[in-house]
Amino acid sequence: YECKEMHHNVSRFVAASNKYSVVRLSLMTELKSGIEKGQLQLNYQPKVDLKTGKIVSVESLVRWRHPEHGYIFPDEFIPLAEQTGNIRHLTHWAIEESIKQHLALKEHGFDIKMAINISAVDLIDLALPPFVANLLSKYQVEPNVLIFEVTESAIMADPEQAITALNMLRNMNIKLSIDDFGTGYSSMEQLKRTPVDELKIDKSFILDLSNNSDDMIIVKSITSLAHNLGLTIVAEGIENQETMAILADLGVETGQGYFMSKPLEAKLLKAWLMGNSGVFSSDDKDSKHTK
Ligand code: C2E
Ligand code: MG
Ligand code: MG
Ligand code: MG
Repeated sequence: YECKEMHHNVSRFVAASNKYSVVRLSLMTELKSGIEKGQLQLNYQPKVDLKTGKIVSVESLVRWRHPEHGYIFPDEFIPLAEQTGNIRHLTHWAIEESIKQHLALKEHGFDIKMAINISAVDLIDLALPPFVANLLSKYQVEPNVLIFEVTESAIMADPEQAITALNMLRNMNIKLSIDDFGTGYSSMEQLKRTPVDELKIDKSFILDLSNNSDDMIIVKSITSLAHNLGLTIVAEGIENQETMAILADLGVETGQGYFMSKPLEAKLLKAWLMGNSGVFSSDDKDSKHTK
């Protein structure tokens, strides 16, 4: 059994350098039926407490097993799905699938929070909050099991609307995270008004952290800003031990990255959880599931 996630470079489908290539556009006409035919899957990447090594949640990341084009990563179809309005189906599917996965893990004794990426378009969809409320009652799942990750640029696209939508979700007791933080130019004023629980520092500041003093300054500043505002901080893109140690020293609570685990298919996530008993230790770093 092979995990495709390990072969990024080999099997990665690239439609074309042109954003609006014919292949990419035609993918959009297939997205909805692709979802219905079960061609989309979520992989799950753990977020880990940097002090204790315990898993705090997993992030759901979509992949498309296309019968013709093979394994397609989200950067190839999410942006276009956002522009064509198709993203709504995908978001609804991803939330339901994540809830099902939460329940499946619970049967094995793991109580794991699920982080789901929500796009700017979803924030102007007034049907989203009631849709989520329905799912939660249908599956009898507590709202605080869900974390919605919204990118900083999605919020900045229409801050008034975004804040309204985020308030509705927050009032339902869903946790909110600002994704790719540091790349979207939000102001302090904006941040103060945005109902949010966590900032997720963009991986562009983390990947080279141990060699780059500018990144170090930026990460330090974002961390103290977050803490002063009472927010939790998450670093994504941790690829080595040294970076993990630096972040832990800086007081960053939570980390995510290939060093701990790549995004895993559901059954590999279960294996990872069982192998780790929910606890990450550096002995696991060469495990075939995570590297
Ligand atoms: P994101 O939410 O910022 O997710 C982080 C991306 O970084 C993921 O790429 C993840 O696989 C990758 N990553 C994680 N750890 C490392 C690391 O240590 N090093 C490096 N180099 N990369 C790492 P992925 O899965 O290709 O997803 C790309 C983006 O697509 C996501 O960025 C998110 O914006 C979007 N996306 C993924 N799934 C969904 C979805 O279900 N709905 C929506 N609306 N967007 C999604
Ligand atoms: Mg994310
Ligand atoms: Mg991100
Ligand atoms: Mg991103």
